Amino acid sequence: MHISNRDSAASLDAAHQVHPHTNLRAHLALGPTMFVRGSGIHVYDDEGKEYIEGAAALWCASLGFGSERLAEVARKAITEIGYYHNFRGSGTPAAGVLSAKLAAIAPEGMDKVLLQSSGTEANDTAIKLVWYYWHARGEPQRRKIISRRQAYHGTGTLTSCLTAKDNFHQGFGLPFEGFLYVTQPYHYRLAEPGESEEAFSTRLAEEIEALILKEGPETVAAFWAEPVMGSGGVITPPAGYFQKVQAVLDRYGILFVADEVICGFGRTGEMWGSQTYGIRPDLICSAKALSAAVIPISAVIIADRVFEAMLEQSDRFGSFTHGYTYSGHPVACAVASEVLTIYEEMDLVGHVKAIEPTFLQGFAELEDHPLVGASGGVGLIGAVEIVADKASKALHDPRLNVMPRLDAATRGHGLITRLIGNRIALSPPQIITEAETREMFARLRHALDDVAAEL
Ligand code: PMP
Repeated sequence: MHISNRDSAASLDAAHQVHPHTNLRAHLALGPTMFVRGSGIHVYDDEGKEYIEGAAALWCASLGFGSERLAEVARKAITEIGYYHNFRGSGTPAAGVLSAKLAAIAPEGMDKVLLQSSGTEANDTAIKLVWYYWHARGEPQRRKIISRRQAYHGTGTLTSCLTAKDNFHQGFGLPFEGFLYVTQPYHYRLAEPGESEEAFSTRLAEEIEALILKEGPETVAAFWAEPVMGSGGVITPPAGYFQKVQAVLDRYGILFVADEVICGFGRTGEMWGSQTYGIRPDLICSAKALSAAVIPISAVIIADRVFEAMLEQSDRFGSFTHGYTYSGHPVACAVASEVLTIYEEMDLVGHVKAIEPTFLQGFAELEDHPLVGASGGVGLIGAVEIVADKASKALHDPRLNVMPRLDAATRGHGLITRLIGNRIALSPPQIITEAETREMFARLRHALDDVAAEL
């Protein structure tokens, strides 16, 4: 195919590329917004406009954009071998070294790593490992998996079932049987009037226990949760939530799978969100910041007791029959390994802890804004909730298009955020400085002021 200079990339894209999570008909007419360059926490569109990427793209560009250092590592890895698989006991030094580095920063008692290429693949693999575990333990009827409403855990066939959002199921004939949903820990909207965070947490843990008893504990395999729900709206757990949930799961021996695809690598102020909230996971799914998102890679980190069961299964069946062509891809592993070295050099967790007060102050200062109902976060992830009326928490009339207008206004002021329903999420690259954090909130406030004035 000959592509002439007159064919702009945007029109070629509109004509030929099917975009995920996009209104297809609108895209045919409008085409994409093209981002062509990035540096530090900034990206630039094809007209040269500069934006702070306040969402780290899809919660993932932890080291920002445009890294020469990571490019050099990728170049070297491609020159050395470029590709080799890790099936049937083969391997590459890069995959071995990355696995060891991950095991070294994993929570206690989690020493094994299974590599693949995306968050969806990590969660899909974890579903199979949960079933494999119960099969090894002589309880193959333990198949059911509990996740929380509005949870996002990927868009594969099984992971779409964990993802508890109606719009991810409609038109696809999903979910499959055996995926169960409980109330998400969204205190601001779902607590009863006057209900404390602790009381709300107790009620949600009781709901999980009641569901387990109704279904039969001997049929329930695992509970799935992000430490902070990301795409579900940046919902930080209310006081006591995970302690109470963990106690219920422990009572019935149900596995806890922590989806740390967003929360891993310092996002919540510790290396893992599980550590921020005292979760004891049996499996951790990680991706995104594992490679600072410059190359696709993900990992399932496996607790020792789950690996014991995998060993037994491998003995029984002759091998562990699961994995992908790109599991442990040496170029991705070399880059991810370098990313972990950079995290060590910059003291990633220490840096996030140092910026966190400025970040949280930014949210606190927005609380009195007329459009803001709630505002807050943890580490370097947070959100503001947009309301029409602070006291009643009423939403704006959808015909006013307040959220699209806020999106346009933030972009106009040079800030990209993530809109989720009536919430505006921020999760900037973890390299952000204090001055850049203040600038990010200043741009957000300008956008809120503009839209408030128009309304
Ligand atoms: N889990 C969580 C918590 C996520 O946020 C995402 C993606 N945003 C996924 C899983 C799926 O990851 P991917 O898009 O890489 O398949």
